[in-house]
Parts: sequence; structure tokens; C-alpha cells
Amino acid sequence: MARPLLRTLFSLAISFTSVLFSMMTVNAEEQKRPHIQIRGIYGGVPDQLLDQKKTLPELGINAVFTGSGSLTQERIALLKQQGAKVFAEFNTMHVANYLKDHPDASPIGVDGKVCPAPQGWQGICPTHPGYRQYRMDEFRRVLKEFEIDGIWLDYHHSHASWERAVPDLPDTCFCERCLKQFQRETKVSLPDAPTSELSTLLLGKQKAAWVQWRCDVFTDWVREFRAIIKETRPQALLGTFHCPWSDTDFNGALKNKLAIDLKAQAPYVDVFSIMPYHARFNHPEDPAWISRQTAWLGKHLSIKGEPGERHKIWPIVQLSDWGETVPVEQVHSVLDHGTRLPATGVMVFRWGSLHPQTDKVDAMIEYYQAIKP
Ligand SMILES: [Zn+2]
Repeated sequence: MARPLLRTLFSLAISFTSVLFSMMTVNAEEQKRPHIQIRGIYGGVPDQLLDQKKTLPELGINAVFTGSGSLTQERIALLKQQGAKVFAEFNTMHVANYLKDHPDASPIGVDGKVCPAPQGWQGICPTHPGYRQYRMDEFRRVLKEFEIDGIWLDYHHSHASWERAVPDLPDTCFCERCLKQFQRETKVSLPDAPTSELSTLLLGKQKAAWVQWRCDVFTDWVREFRAIIKETRPQALLGTFHCPWSDTDFNGALKNKLAIDLKAQAPYVDVFSIMPYHARFNHPEDPAWISRQTAWLGKHLSIKGEPGERHKIWPIVQLSDWGETVPVEQVHSVLDHGTRLPATGVMVFRWGSLHPQTDKVDAMIEYYQAIKP
């Protein structure tokens, strides 16, 4: 009996060791993310880390995303000295202050009246020529003035409050200018009727033409942004922070409501920064939602995350508490799902509210250091 028992024990030990080894290999592979080129933070220069005499390379951070309004030459020089790429965030359709002097740029609702801002998220009529010029001029100024590595569109969608568990997505803009431009560009002629009747028609019988036309208006802004980059700083990347829904989530609201046509925008955009804020958007216990949405985007746009591909997916993932808290135990999992292919970069939302939560910052740094090639 002794021998068979020994043999059994011996073979058990062998299988245990091989299981252990394979687990270690899996862990090591999980830690290595050679496809991840960008390990970024969003929301400004991490002075709190630099003040501790830490350098960004030793922390595993190699990119900083900051509002275009808070760029200065000194801050850019500081980040470049640290070897980090600097990307500016650019507010396209959400400069609410503009309405003070230009009330005719307010989005108009289905009843023909100014549509109140849903939860305070004020959008602008996308065909207002003065507003468009204002944003294009500002975009050009930022690119001319600052040596940035790229610029990311933010809020490039219709008047809506979608950054929440239950989105509020009013139908707009039925202003006279939009209705005229729609008819001119689609050759659809609308009857002489009050706006409330026209909006019913546009959201009913003419919905397909209306939805596509609105998407095309927003896409044309992206075309112009690209043209400005080409003229001013051609090596800079054009990115976009965009809603993380798939084409079927919320009944196709990505196009139907937000007027985001990712496929049509793709010829002008280099990097898609999908915004899967899992906690904020009703998936607090499910960080895997991040990689599911990223995988959908890759399939939708035929992006695999292979070297040399023109289009890239760099998700912005939620580590700071916004609405829902993100526990420190989740940091690893959020970054794991945020760095899976087809993603080739990642950044965390957002430094301003994250930095006082030093346990989460430490966990982020630990992860970034581990995946650093
Ligand atoms: Zn309008």
C-alpha cells in the first residue's frame, strides 16, 4: 500500500506544482500589456505626485490629459521634461456661456420653444454659424499656441444629459435654421406647419433622414477640426471622448439622440476614447462592462489594436468617485478591463477628485508600473 500511496502523493504534488506554475504564468501574462502605449491620467498635471519628488516615468505614467483652457507653456515644458505626452481636452458643444449674448444658439425642443438644459447639461444648436466659428477659432488658437501631442473633442454631441445611470435625452434642435438647413441638404420639403407638427413628422415618417442629417452635421464639425489640425499642427492626434454605448444601447440613442456617428467620424479621428465610467453609468459591480464596450467599439470600427493601425482605442476609465464610489479593491480590475485589446492606451478619470484618495492613487501607480514594458 505504501508505494501506491507515495506515487499518488508524488503525482498530486506534480499536478499541484503545474497548476501553480500555470497560474503564475497567467498572472504574469495578465500583468504584461505590451500593446498598451499610453498610461495616462486625465484632469491636469499631477502636482501632488511631482511635489513628492517623484518622476512620472518611475510612476509608470506617460501621458497627461488636461483642459485646453488650463494649458500653459510652463506646464507643457514640465510634462515634456518628464517624458510625458500632453493631450488637450477641447469642449465643442457645451460652452453654455455663449448663450448669454447669443440666445439664438439655444437648442429648440419639439414644441418650438427653447429646450431647458437636462440636469444642467447645456448644449448648443449645431448649425449656429457664429458658435461654430467661435469654437473653430479657439481650436486653431490652442493648436497654434501650444506644443501638444494631440487634442481630444469633448461633449461633441447634442443637448443631452447622458453621463448618468438613467439618461435624459430630449429631442432637439428644431430651430428655424436647423429646419431650413435640413430641407436644403436632404431635399426633403416640410409642410408649412407649426414646429410641434414638424417635429412629429421628423421623429416619425422622416426619422431616418432627420437622424442621419443631424449625425452628418456633427460629423462635419469633426471634418473641420481635422482640417485645422492639418493646417496648424499636423503631427497632433485628433481624439474624441465619446459616449460608451453600443449602437443598440438605449434604442440606438448614440445616433438617434446624441447624433454621434462613429463610423462617419472615423476618417477624421485618430483615437477613440470611449468613456465607460462603470460606476457612474449603473455598472458599479461589473468592471467587465468596460472591456465589453471596448470590444464592441473595436468590432464596430474594425479596430483590433494591432501595431501600425491608424485608429486607436484608448478608454478613459473611472477611478474617482462620481455619483457612485469606486472602491480601492476595484482599481486593479478597472485597469485590467480598460487595458484589454483592442485598447492600446488607457487614462483614468479624473485627477482633481482622485488625488486625495491616495490608496487608489497608489493602486493605480502599482498597476501602471506593472504593465509598463
Ligand atoms: Zn438649431
